[in-house]
Amino acid sequence: MKRLNKTMMQYFEWYLPSNCKLWTNLINQAPILKEKGITSIWLPPAYKGAAGNNDTGYGVYDLYDLGEFNQKGSVRTKYGTKDEYIAAIEALQLEGIQVIADIVLNHRLGADEKQEVIAYEVDPEDRNLTIGDYRKILCWTKYNFEGRNNKYSDFKLDWSHFTSIDYDFYTETNKIYKFYGKHFSPDVDKEHGNFDYLMGADVDFNNLDVVNDLTLWGKWYFDQTHVDGFRLDAVKHIRFSFYKKWLHELKHYIGEDFYTVGEYFSGDVNSLLNYLDYNDEVTSLFDAPLHYHFRDAANGGGYYDMSKLFEETLVDRRPSRAVTFVDNHDTEPGQSLESWVQEWFKPSAYACIMFRDVGIPCIFYGDYYGIPEKNIPPMKEILDKFLMCRKYLAYGEEKDYFDDPDIIGWTRFGDYYHQDSGMAVILSDGPGGNKQMNVGKNLANCVLYDCTGNIKEPVYVDKDGNGIFYCNGGSVSVWIKKDNMYNL
Ligand code: CA
Repeated sequence: MKRLNKTMMQYFEWYLPSNCKLWTNLINQAPILKEKGITSIWLPPAYKGAAGNNDTGYGVYDLYDLGEFNQKGSVRTKYGTKDEYIAAIEALQLEGIQVIADIVLNHRLGADEKQEVIAYEVDPEDRNLTIGDYRKILCWTKYNFEGRNNKYSDFKLDWSHFTSIDYDFYTETNKIYKFYGKHFSPDVDKEHGNFDYLMGADVDFNNLDVVNDLTLWGKWYFDQTHVDGFRLDAVKHIRFSFYKKWLHELKHYIGEDFYTVGEYFSGDVNSLLNYLDYNDEVTSLFDAPLHYHFRDAANGGGYYDMSKLFEETLVDRRPSRAVTFVDNHDTEPGQSLESWVQEWFKPSAYACIMFRDVGIPCIFYGDYYGIPEKNIPPMKEILDKFLMCRKYLAYGEEKDYFDDPDIIGWTRFGDYYHQDSGMAVILSDGPGGNKQMNVGKNLANCVLYDCTGNIKEPVYVDKDGNGIFYCNGGSVSVWIKKDNMYNL
């Protein structure tokens, strides 16, 4: 059967301007994105953040305000109003593109009132240790949502719904303060002893009122938006058992094919595998280890061992649960997980996610359109070519040639259902060179050319499918059939 390769796109970057028209732009872009072969779009958090229309959405204030109520200085969010959000979702779905909503449940910011709370200071390096005795602190923990006036939910938050916070107004100091009688969940990432606390007021997932509200909210969110899936923010900071139960109940309500992908941001693949196993693979995860390999290869100045690029990555160890990516809004220059993949290596990295048989690749808005704030140019031209190659040609059996520390390559044999499909990919982090590879029977006796334009001379493939394929130093070449119909 003819199938279409799945391709996700993260449709935002950190430095989009306040009051940008992201939702309404998407309405116009939907048919274009479909034509490019985008099959799912990850949208940024759509609810009101502490910084109102300047908040990326990760500084969550009110989960029930999708740009509908006058709170935090505006009705709309950074990206538009609730009506525009719903219209964008409908426009994308009309084109057959799945919409994935970003779900940020770990923390809250922008409380309406301060409260006096008894708390301990916590050692930031080992959060299992408290420092000194408990005392009274004054902190922002009371959320009234007055602008919403109980519409959709009358649940309010106060200090009892949180475990900890990072600022005391009595002493005007910035520490981690754990509330008296509260406990960090043991089933979270073990970095810093216990990585339950990330930022803001840390939501207490041991509190039944919190869990009940979030279950109602998940169903409400689906009923309001009819999205096709969730991207789960910061899962390593939320007790592992929460999403297992929450997603089980939500999928029972929505349908078992509701798609989710979690952000477990760690370079250690075993941490990701542990999370997947703990949760019976209830969600997919972004392949952060592979992202770090790309970063290291780009920073390696030609000395990265390319034959090990995919070793100890999620797409290698658990391919069915891997969403592969090159960079995202957190890895951008100046952001919390800054680990930007240098531009010279970016086309190679994209080839490594877009032309492989396994993993769902996620194209980053900041790479595709560029990041004006950081003077990072768009890669639209090369990524458009890669998107066409992925949509039409990257099919069939895969044969790897990861046999050299500098130059690696692989081929796709193509399949019966996609005309002229199949390709040879070769890339180097060091000197240029060539490799004999076999592209299978589909492309035997054909002339292939490098669609990137990096190598000008064509390559002849013999009757057995063998050809000698070239790439330049620090570069990638993608060899496809010359007389195909995709205007590459
Ligand atoms: Ca937490």
